Amino acid sequence: VNFREMKLPHALIRALSKKGIEKPTPIQVQGLSTVLSGRDMIGIAFTGSGKTLVFSLPLIMFCMEQERNLPFSRGEGPYGLILCPSRELARQTHDIVRYYSIALEMEGFPSLKVAALIGGVNAKEQADSMKFGVHIVVATPGRLIDFLNKKLRQPAGVSPALPQVCRYICLDEADRVVDSTFEEDMRTIFSYFKAQRQTLLFSATMPKKIQQFALSALVDPVIVNV
Ligand code: AMP
Repeated sequence: VNFREMKLPHALIRALSKKGIEKPTPIQVQGLSTVLSGRDMIGIAFTGSGKTLVFSLPLIMFCMEQERNLPFSRGEGPYGLILCPSRELARQTHDIVRYYSIALEMEGFPSLKVAALIGGVNAKEQADSMKFGVHIVVATPGRLIDFLNKKLRQPAGVSPALPQVCRYICLDEADRVVDSTFEEDMRTIFSYFKAQRQTLLFSATMPKKIQQFALSALVDPVIVNV
């Protein structure tokens, strides 16, 4: 199987190729088709498996399709949320999502706004970056919770990026969200988002805590373990 057979746009295949990515890894072969089909998914995968593209590329494609049909307006979004346990991982993932969305934009696809909500960086600047609407948010859990708790209470029109339209959530490296507040934090975050969504969970290992959370947050997930 190659990327061409996987229904990815040619512009995306060229962008992958520029990064030296020619042949899908096993998790990409199984994972991309699963995610593109709209199913919930649990990916049991380590860093280095190529998992980042499994949840990033379908989200970018989905947002571009949305934007083509119905361009969004001020304060709208995000359509998709990617949660990363560490600031470093969130930053890397944000850069990857930006790279592929810009590569597609340069080939005539709609422009996407990608925002980061990451701890340790000025929160107001991050909120401002979402004022005009945002397609994709890459976040660390703590900063996202701060943001959801505070910013959602602002008057309509000022409130950036209400999560009601968000229909895609990915939790990456779930087993690295090690602190004892994991369950509580995840429930807080997920409670803000509507139930009608596609949910993905990636984890290198599946401790009981993660299994239990996955059972409650995902619907009939496809398990990809390569
Ligand atoms: P990840 O597991 O998503 O963190 O990816 C690990 C590294 O593998 C990154 O540097 C990717 O650019 C690279 N990578 C992802 N997919 C492929 C692929 N199909 N072929 C070669 N390298 C890849």
